[in-house]
Amino acid sequence: MINVTKTYMPDKAKYLAYVDQIFESGWVTNNGMLVRELEARLADYLGIKNIVLVANGTIALEIAYRLLKLDGEVITTPFSFVATTSSLVSNALKPIFADIDPKTLTLNPDNIEDRITDKTSAIVPVHVFGNACEVDRIQAIAEKNNLKVIYDAAHAFGVQYKGESLLNHGDVSTLSFHATKLFHTIEGGALIINDDSLVEEARYLINFGIDGRDSVKALGTNAKMNEFEAAMGLCVLNDMDKVLHDCKVIYDFYESSLCDILTLPIDNLHSSKNYSYFPALFKSEQQTLDVQSALHENGIYPRRYFYPSLDTLPYIIDAEKMINSQTIASRILALPLYPGLSREEQVNIISIIRKKMNIIIMRPNILK
Ligand SMILES: *Cc1c(COP(=O)(O)O)cnc(C)c1O
Repeated sequence: MINVTKTYMPDKAKYLAYVDQIFESGWVTNNGMLVRELEARLADYLGIKNIVLVANGTIALEIAYRLLKLDGEVITTPFSFVATTSSLVSNALKPIFADIDPKTLTLNPDNIEDRITDKTSAIVPVHVFGNACEVDRIQAIAEKNNLKVIYDAAHAFGVQYKGESLLNHGDVSTLSFHATKLFHTIEGGALIINDDSLVEEARYLINFGIDGRDSVKALGTNAKMNEFEAAMGLCVLNDMDKVLHDCKVIYDFYESSLCDILTLPIDNLHSSKNYSYFPALFKSEQQTLDVQSALHENGIYPRRYFYPSLDTLPYIIDAEKMINSQTIASRILALPLYPGLSREEQVNIISIIRKKMNIIIMRPNILK
């Protein structure tokens, strides 16, 4: 069985060496040594100032909303993983969708300003599939209207924008380190905070709002990462060069083998790629479903990332219909992409797709 992604497992002996360390210290959670080490190493690796590790990417978004004191309405993209929207709703914030650019699949800044009201407190865009949003234009709109910007950067690990970390844009960017993501800590996530003065508050918000020993300063929650997760992160971080290289090789082979029959999203010109997803756009929903079932028959499970469009979620009431997002969601598949996917498996996936689309002639690079 081949899935859209597969958890990267680092060297077991190296992980067990960390486990020995944890058993010796007896310190398993609550801002332990390994969590602090991982924070320092990630800040250095990513080229960012302030990082706070948390239990998952969803709670990272929720903490960001509380940290920036959002209320009322939040303008966001309908084309993302469900957590971008559900985290707003479960924090009593009203998502107001603004449609995506159908070429880049990111929130189109042209659609934001119309939707700003006196209740709007923030914009929550997503660097979907690691493709950078138009951060400069979004920042200008936010400044003009006094809004906060929180980027759901769950897909944007390691992405550079104009030569520096993309994560330095917005008031806060959030990451997910779930096992299915490019870089992972089993379960985990992070807040990248631009304003130094908010870091301390984020640290007590993730620990029930407790500041010091006996004082509760604010309404917090439990969002802590534990030492076993941090140990996994330290191991995976050591291997990131290889992970990124392998993903790029697989991505490039899909691209050169399928670009004549599929449409791919257009990349932001100022941004680098991390090659963590291969989203492929088909001509119609029927063709998408046909290809999906042909792959299923062969034990290959791409995912309809991202489907459904979030304006159609059952708990969203009276949303304006997001035409671009709904159309894209109906005809997109993310193809299997992970370190360890063999060339042979990839050739098989490509030929099943071409056969189903009746374009059996292979591009020459496959015949090699
Ligand atoms: C994975 C993901 C999340 C949620 O992260 P978890 O760590 O699974 O909670 C949020 N947003 C996007 C865009 C994601 O892909």
